[in-house]
Amino acid sequence: MSTASAPLPQFGPGRHLLSVSQFNREGLEALFALADLVEPIAQRRSVCTVLDGAVLGSLFFEPSTRTRLSFESAFLRLGGEVTTTTGVTFSSMAKGESIEDTSRVISGYSDVMVVRHPDEGSVAQFASASTVPVLNAGDGAGEHPSQALLDTYTLIRELGARGRDLDGATIAVVGDLRFGRTVHSLIKLLSIHDGITFRLYSPPSLHLPDAIAEHARAHGNTIIVCDSVVEALEGADVVYATRVQRERMTEELHSSVRGSLLDRERLEQAGVDQHIIIMHPLPRDSRHDAFDLSNDVDDLPGLSIFKQTDNGLLVRMALFLTALGCSADSVRATLKQRPWKAELDWELG
Ligand code: ASP
Repeated sequence: MSTASAPLPQFGPGRHLLSVSQFNREGLEALFALADLVEPIAQRRSVCTVLDGAVLGSLFFEPSTRTRLSFESAFLRLGGEVTTTTGVTFSSMAKGESIEDTSRVISGYSDVMVVRHPDEGSVAQFASASTVPVLNAGDGAGEHPSQALLDTYTLIRELGARGRDLDGATIAVVGDLRFGRTVHSLIKLLSIHDGITFRLYSPPSLHLPDAIAEHARAHGNTIIVCDSVVEALEGADVVYATRVQRERMTEELHSSVRGSLLDRERLEQAGVDQHIIIMHPLPRDSRHDAFDLSNDVDDLPGLSIFKQTDNGLLVRMALFLTALGCSADSVRATLKQRPWKAELDWELG
C-alpha cells in the first residue's frame, strides 16, 4: 500500500498512479472505454502514432516479465519510444544513489516513468522527486495497481460473456494472500463494486492482512475465510489463485507450504461448473510440488490467465493515454492500417 498519508487524487492527466484507491467507478469506466478503443492496435490490426516523440523511462528493480514487457509494448504500440534499466546491479543505485536522485534524473529524460521496486512505499518515494507521471508497477508487498485494473477488466468481460455482472459476484481468492500484492490491490479495487463476496483460502501463515479485509467490509462487501480450497470454491463464479511470494519470506516459512494449491481434482471435489473463471496474475510456479495453480486445469474452458495477459496490454495502453492526456479522438486521428503481416500462416501441430 502507498505510504502517503493524505488521500491520493483520482488518476488522470499529469497524475502519478500509486494505488488503486485513485479510482472510482467513473474513473474505471473511462479507463476501460479507452482500453476497448485500443484493442485493434494491441492486436496489430491497425497502427497508431499518438505518442510519437514521447519517451517512457522503464525502471524495474525487481524481476518482471509480463509487467515490464507489456508496459513497454503498450508504449511502443502507441508510437512512443522506450528507455529501460533492470535490476539495481545495472543502475547507479548499486553505487549508493538515492531513489530521489535517480527519479529526478530519469524524469529529465522521460515523459512518463514506470517503476517496480522491492520496497513497499518506494514507488511513492520515486514519484515525490519526479517531474513526470510515475506509474507503480509493483512496490514490494504493497500494491500492483495495473495488475488489479487488468484483472478487473478481465472479470467484467468474462462475467459479461456469461451474462453476469461483477456486482454481486462471488470470488474465491486462494494462495499467498499475505505477501501477494496483486490480491491486496484487487480486493481494494473490487471493493468499489457492490455486493461482492470474497471467499478466502490461504495457509494460516499467509492470511490476508486485516487492513485489506477491513477495507472490503467497510465498503459493504463480504469476506469469508475458509479452511480449504474446496470450501472456498463453494458457489464461486471466479477463482483467483496466486503464487507463494518466496522472495518476501524466510526459507523456513516457504518450506512449510507445499503441495498443489488448486488442481482439477479440487475443482471436481467442489463440484464447480467447468466454465468457472480461473485467474492468476502469473507467473505460476510449475515445478513439482509447488503450492500453486496446477497445469492440469489448462484445458478447462474457463481458464482466463492468457486473457488477463492480453488484456494487460490494453489496460496499460489506456493508462499511458490517460496519464499523458490523450483523448479518444487523438487516438482515432493517428490510426492507420498496417502494411505488414502479423500472423503466422502455419502452425506447428
Ligand atoms: N507478477 C505478479 C507480481 O509482480 C505476481 C507474482 O509475482 O506472483 O506481483
